[in-house]
Amino acid sequence: MSWKVSPTIDSILDKGDDFTSITRDEALTLLSLELDSREIYALMETAHRMSCRQFGNKAENHFHIGINVAPCPYNCSFCSLTTQAGIFKHAIEFSEADIQKWSVDAACQGADALNIMTTGTFSFERLLAVGRLLKKTVSTPLVANTRDITHKEAEMLLDAGFVGAYHAVRLGEGRDTPFDRDKRIRTISVIKDVGLCWMNCVEPVGPEHRPEEITDLMFLAREHGATYSGVMRRINFPGSPMAAHGMITEREMARMVAVSRLVMGDAPRAHCTHEPNAVSLLAGANLFFPEVGASPRDGEVDTGKGRGKNIRLCRGIQAEMGWNPDLPSNCFEAKAHIVCDSAGTKNSP
Ligand code: SF4
Repeated sequence: MSWKVSPTIDSILDKGDDFTSITRDEALTLLSLELDSREIYALMETAHRMSCRQFGNKAENHFHIGINVAPCPYNCSFCSLTTQAGIFKHAIEFSEADIQKWSVDAACQGADALNIMTTGTFSFERLLAVGRLLKKTVSTPLVANTRDITHKEAEMLLDAGFVGAYHAVRLGEGRDTPFDRDKRIRTISVIKDVGLCWMNCVEPVGPEHRPEEITDLMFLAREHGATYSGVMRRINFPGSPMAAHGMITEREMARMVAVSRLVMGDAPRAHCTHEPNAVSLLAGANLFFPEVGASPRDGEVDTGKGRGKNIRLCRGIQAEMGWNPDLPSNCFEAKAHIVCDSAGTKNSP
């Protein structure tokens, strides 16, 4: 039996080796590869090697802190923090003492960033106040994850101490959410215009999403220059309206993580996957999100006591898979790309 992969796939993977972004049709071809084929392992190997070279073997942990729980009236179908899910009946805002303790503990455990998440109607002023508080408390870079914002509000995030903002056009935007895709993209533009790093993920992927829809969001991330953009699967919380669709497996997610890595080419500073899983660390991912506080995937008020993985666990998985979480983050430094040559020396490409 020949161990060669098909010439068509081989030529697409060669583009990955050159950090040349692949085309939409090529991405669709890769997304259709059988999970047990030798081509899928060749794809993952290429994506993994790209990330090892470009990120200098660094594993990143961006610590998610959901600072409030609320029955959110926007009722996105995939989210547990909604009025319609009926899981959370009352609004809860975690105390400043809780948020500070989580942040200090995360900083001491080597977090590379703190991602501060709010629900859709949470006070923007309160988010700014949390930013100002944490700016005085820790030196870890702060990333905001909140609603659509204006140019002025993006400037206010910067002034409050945030250096980045996570903002995704979700799969099913406008169908599974009440939000306008173009408005989400405008927010991405203002994030970048004011000088915040724009963080993204193709999410939340379920079995019902067509490859064209998934590919479209991968290319949106590439074209708008995301700092990182990997893949997160949808988690169906108990009673989720999406439960009938089921969930994709971690192996299926790893295939998408690898394809998105080739799509991103030389653009990103890291490549994310969520929830933390080992197989994606062999498919181009190097960034995990450990979690505490509110989570749209959990029925617990504090996901740190539920589904959320802690930093120690995430670092352990990364080390087992050959990544080094102790190196400095690549995401927030001026130099965009770090490449290790075969001798392990860091160079600019
Ligand atoms: S995803 Fe955000 S806006 Fe949508 S329901 Fe959940 S908290 Fe509200």
